[in-house]
Amino acid sequence: MATRNQILKSIIDKNPHELEFHQAVEEVFESIQPVLRDHKNYVDARLFERICEPERIISFRVCWTDDQGKVQVNKGYRVQMSSALGPYKGGLRFHPSVNQSILKFLAFEQVFKNALTGLPLGAGKGGADFDPKGKSDGEVMRFCQAWMMEGYRHIGHFTDVPAGDIGVGEREIGYLFGTYKKIQNEFQGVLTGKGLDWGGSYLRPEATGYGLIHFAHFMLTEADDYLEGKVCLVSGAGNVSQFAIEKLLQEGAKVVAFSDSTGFIHDPEGMNEDKLAYLKALKNGQKKSISGFAEAYPSASFTSNGDKNLWSIPADCAFPCATQNELEEADAKTLRKNGLILLAEGANMPCTPKAINYLQESKVLYGPGKASNAGGVAVSGLEMSQNRMGRYWTKNDLEIQLRTIMKDIHDKCLETIARHDLHEQDYLNAANIGAFEKVAKSMNAQG
Ligand code: GLU
Repeated sequence: MATRNQILKSIIDKNPHELEFHQAVEEVFESIQPVLRDHKNYVDARLFERICEPERIISFRVCWTDDQGKVQVNKGYRVQMSSALGPYKGGLRFHPSVNQSILKFLAFEQVFKNALTGLPLGAGKGGADFDPKGKSDGEVMRFCQAWMMEGYRHIGHFTDVPAGDIGVGEREIGYLFGTYKKIQNEFQGVLTGKGLDWGGSYLRPEATGYGLIHFAHFMLTEADDYLEGKVCLVSGAGNVSQFAIEKLLQEGAKVVAFSDSTGFIHDPEGMNEDKLAYLKALKNGQKKSISGFAEAYPSASFTSNGDKNLWSIPADCAFPCATQNELEEADAKTLRKNGLILLAEGANMPCTPKAINYLQESKVLYGPGKASNAGGVAVSGLEMSQNRMGRYWTKNDLEIQLRTIMKDIHDKCLETIARHDLHEQDYLNAANIGAFEKVAKSMNAQG
C-alpha cells in the first residue's frame, strides 16, 4: 500500500504550481488520517487521490466588447469537481486573481462543504479573470453574455448549477440567466442567487452571513458562552460581511471593524442599523471605497492598507469574510494576545495553515469555512428545490430551514468528534472527516 507521503506527493506532483489547491488538499488529507487508519471504517487511501482529480475542467476564451468598441479577451472556467452527491454545485468568481489553482481549491472545498449541508449537492466552481470593478453595466452584461455563450453547453439544472461568489451577485446572475434562457428556450433553475421575482429564494443574499453567525452562536452555546455584548471584527464589506454584521447586531454583539481592498474602518462605538445601511449603499451601487464611511461617522476612522490591518484591533470574536489567506499566523497571535475567544470563517480558506494551527493550539474556538460558511450554498440548494417544485417558501420558512441546517452541521461536527475521539472543540478535523466519510462512501457505492 502506498504510504501517506507518497499519496500526497503524487497528488502534488500531478498538479504543479497550484499552491492554493495544494494547501486545501493537504489540510483535508491531514484531517482524514484517522479514517484511513481505522480498519472498521476502512476507506482506501487511493480514494482520496480520486477526490482530488476534478471530474472535468472546462477552460475557454471569453471575448466581449467594451464601451469604446474594443474587443477584450478573458479566460473563463468551470471546474466540475464531484458529482458523487448530486449535480455539480458552486459559485462563479469574477476577479483578476482567478486562475485554475484558485478555482480547483474552491471546487475542492465545495465538495466537503456541500456534503455537510445534508442536501443532494455535488461540487464545482468557475468564473473568469474578469474584473467587474470599474466596468459599466453594459460591459458587465456583455461579458456575462459572452461567458454563457460557451458556459451553457456544460451546465443544466440536473447537471451543474452555478451561483455567485466574489464579483458575481444578483446583477451578474441575471445577465447569465437571461442568456441561458434565450439559448435553451427554457426557464429552468440553472443558476441560483436569482432575483425574488424570477425564480430566486428568500434569504439567499443573507444566507452565508446569517448562517455564519448561527454557526458561531452554536459553537459558543456549546462552550456555555454567547454572542451578546461580544466585540467583533468582520473583514470584507461585500455580501457575506454585510449580512454577518446584520445578524451580529440582531444577536446583540458589537461590531467595531470591517474592511475592503483599500483598507479598514475602526469604529469603537460599534455599528448600528443606520451605519450598516450606509455601508450597504456605499458598497452595493457604485462599489465605492469604505473610506467614505469615516467621513459620514465621526466615531469611525479609516486606515488604508499598510503595515496594520483590522486584526490588530482587540476583539472577542473575528469573522474573516474577505478572501483566501487573508489572516496569517502573526495576525492570529495578535488576536489571541488581545483576548480572542472565537474565529469563524465566512470566506473560503481565509486563514493560512499556520494561523489555523496556532488558533487550534491556543484553544481559540475555530469554525472552519466548510462548516461555518455553508449557509450560502445550503439556501442555494433550497432554491433548486423550489425551482423544481414550482412553489416557493416564505421568508420565515427559509429562516427556520437555514438555522436548522446550520444546527445540523454543528451537530454533525459534534457527532464526528465523539465517534473519532477528537478534541472536544476540534471543528476543523470533524468537518473534514464527517464530509469525507459521506463522499467516500457514495463514491464507493457508485463504483
Ligand atoms: N460561492 C458560495 C460558496 O462559496 C455559494 C455557492 C452556491 O451557492 O452555489 O459556497
